[in-house]
Amino acid sequence: TSFGFKEVREEDKSQMVGDVFTKVASNYDLMNDLMSAGLHRLWKDRLVSKLHPFPGMSHLDVAGGTGDIAFRILEDINNLRRRALQDANDDNLPDETRIYVCDINPNMLTVGKKRAIARGFGDNKSLVWVEGDAEALKFESASMDGYTIAFGIRNVTHIEKVLDEAYRVLKRGGRFLCLELSHVDIPIFKDIYDFYSFSVIPSMGEFVSGDRESYQYLVESIRRFPPQEKFASMIADAGFQMVEYENLVGGVVAIHSGLKL
Ligand code: SAM
Repeated sequence: TSFGFKEVREEDKSQMVGDVFTKVASNYDLMNDLMSAGLHRLWKDRLVSKLHPFPGMSHLDVAGGTGDIAFRILEDINNLRRRALQDANDDNLPDETRIYVCDINPNMLTVGKKRAIARGFGDNKSLVWVEGDAEALKFESASMDGYTIAFGIRNVTHIEKVLDEAYRVLKRGGRFLCLELSHVDIPIFKDIYDFYSFSVIPSMGEFVSGDRESYQYLVESIRRFPPQEKFASMIADAGFQMVEYENLVGGVVAIHSGLKL
């Protein structure tokens, strides 16, 4: 490939992914909006609606980056809590909710913390930022009600390890949800999408951040990621039950889900 990525040794991959996200952190949110024409917001809404967040839950958002998924979960929970408080006529209900944002890259977390302050979540005890690797989570087994990973699993070195860790940290009944750029199988649409991703996205990246290579790498990583059915079977192999997936925009994006029963 033009990025020479296939020849890179495994142990160098995480270093390279780290470099990519260090470079793109400050432009990350703008690029998401540009590359997806704002659609990533709807995809993330969809992911969170499938989670059915609830007040008091412990949730882990892995590869959480600048907090997009965590903010949505907290907003949903705050709305539910507000209603519960009105019903109970009591504003002292304890709030045990914990939403952990775990990311390997401190630069992404720094941008996320600033965004949290701007959104009024600055002193929210429910939101916890943790630097850590999806392949070796620093969380106790059976401690989480939910696990999400959005646009993150594609970049890891060992997908199986990430899935095993997701299974380990979830409680029985806990839900695993993964949002990821996936594979388009519709003939003409596939050609348009290929052109868009191989030509338009790297140029856009170069224009906005002066960094063509990082965006080229991101596009190539989509092609290397297992297709929907294969990824579903990997999730089942990790122990999850009721594994299913939903394609959005013809498979540009897929949401995979599973339960630990
Ligand atoms: N989930 C966020 C979103 O949807 O906007 C961020 C997605 S961003 C494309 C991918 C993130 O995965 C980056 O913040 C990167 O630092 C993180 N990442 C890559 N490898 C990781 C790993 N092994 N463990 C944890 N995070 C990782």
